Amino acid sequence: METKLIDGKKISAEIKEEVKEEVQKLKSKGIAPCLAVIQVGEDPASSVYVRNKKKACEYTGIRFLHEKLPEETDQETLLSRLLEMNEDPSVHGILVQLPLPKHLDEQAVTRAISPAKDVDGFHPVNAGSLFLGEEGFVSCTPAGVLQLLKRSGIEIEGKECVVLGRSNIVGKPMAALLLSENGTVTVAHSRTRNLRDVTRRADILVVAVGKPRFVDDTFIKEGAVVIDVGIHRNEDNKLCGDVDFEKVFSKCSAITPVPGGVGPMTVAMLLQNCVQAARGEMNL
Ligand code: NAP
Repeated sequence: METKLIDGKKISAEIKEEVKEEVQKLKSKGIAPCLAVIQVGEDPASSVYVRNKKKACEYTGIRFLHEKLPEETDQETLLSRLLEMNEDPSVHGILVQLPLPKHLDEQAVTRAISPAKDVDGFHPVNAGSLFLGEEGFVSCTPAGVLQLLKRSGIEIEGKECVVLGRSNIVGKPMAALLLSENGTVTVAHSRTRNLRDVTRRADILVVAVGKPRFVDDTFIKEGAVVIDVGIHRNEDNKLCGDVDFEKVFSKCSAITPVPGGVGPMTVAMLLQNCVQAARGEMNL
């Protein structure tokens, strides 16, 4: 059986072109989509992520408002800036780059963003809407995984779907999305017993376990679709995922590589959420 490589670079590029077109249409109606990104402090990894978002916004014509606040910014200052942005009609999407410095309360900050501008989909209103099957912004990484599956022609309905990991930003929303697509969904985590017995049931296995090359061929059913959300640097400073790609490849029917799989989809979905926010049709 030939294994299909799911090309996140190509699929994310298609989505970016769609967003670019949509931005042009909005601009012709007098709406200039704008994403505001607040970054507190100088965390080097965060600076790389913010730069990538900026580049993608500029490519698609979305205005990028980068607000850099000093490391020592207090909670009150950050919250009042967020409230100003909530009120500003020229700002459509707001994102606070995480992690925040330790003295700031991430949960309170996430809740301070208006759900209608919460393009990361982290606000409890949006997280809850997803589980209720209602309209709302969906966390970008799981939304990107769903697009990879759909645009690769992989059917979800009726399939055994196993999500390995239950974080609020990946595992849980991923499970809700697969359920909304009529998959039969199991969520596995660190307390799951006989983990391999669970993952080997999967027709579609989404791995977000946060451990380099944790999943090898012993976790996989022959012919499964394997989506690797993990990103790590290995001993040689090369990128690798949560899945041991070499060991798993020949056993599955389709797989995402790292890099070039899920990674590029996250920013693409953020752009899509920004356009949706700018359209202002979301009932939030
Ligand atoms: P996380 O918050 O660390 O969650 C990891 C999950 O894996 C937890 O639910 C944990 O279970 C479970 N787990 C840990 N060890 C396990 C074990 N030995 N057996 C079974 N389950 C285990 O991670 P995350 O934020 O979801 O991210 C997951 C991975 O995706 C990371 O590598 C991260 O870098 C990557 N990521 C990539 C993108 C992207 O754009 N591609 C975006 C976000 C994250 P418990 O809940 O029981 O502790």
